[in-house]
Amino acid sequence: GRAAALRARMEERLLAARFRYINQQLYTSSSREAAQLFRDDPEAFQIYHRGFTQQVGRWPENPVQRIARALQRRPSSLVVADFGCGDCKLARSLKNKVHSFDLVPLSPQVTVCDMAKVPLADESVDVAVFCLALMGTNLQEILEEANRVLKLGGTLMVAEVASRFEDMRAFMSAMAQLGFKSVSK
Ligand code: SAH
Repeated sequence: GRAAALRARMEERLLAARFRYINQQLYTSSSREAAQLFRDDPEAFQIYHRGFTQQVGRWPENPVQRIARALQRRPSSLVVADFGCGDCKLARSLKNKVHSFDLVPLSPQVTVCDMAKVPLADESVDVAVFCLALMGTNLQEILEEANRVLKLGGTLMVAEVASRFEDMRAFMSAMAQLGFKSVSK
């Protein structure tokens, strides 16, 4: 009994460490390398998602719920693109048409693709969402892709861990250069 419990605890810690390692890889490599990572090692994605769910579960609030609530107050006719959708919590919380993109299909609703290149026409969505998914060193390319698919006057919503920003002001001014006007922070 005790040996089994210890073993289970140790396995849990190894999985948590692997999650942190993969998470760090996702934030420090390009989106193409991230796609390659999950292609080469499908188990990595399972471990990543398990760790992600556990981590967010410990937070006082899951940002995806906050984004869902904000969108529920707006017309359900708005078309949404969820970049890095994970298990499609957003699509499941909204009546809206939601395009859900991820590298790996955790649910049948997911369109598998690299978020730097999504299969949507120019100016085809009202809202683009990056909820804990603004990963990849080719961030500019990814945000330009969101800009491309957004209608003029559309909304970009980003939820990210504060410590991920080296320089928030530089980020905000880069966003302005990409054509995004800050509405609320
Ligand atoms: N938005 C979801 C999941 C966030 S976890 C939520 O808030 O619950 C981050 C997700 O981004 C993961 O599912 C990961 O696979 C995905 N992701 C990371 N890089 C990506 C890329 N280049 N293209 C598509 N999805 C990516």
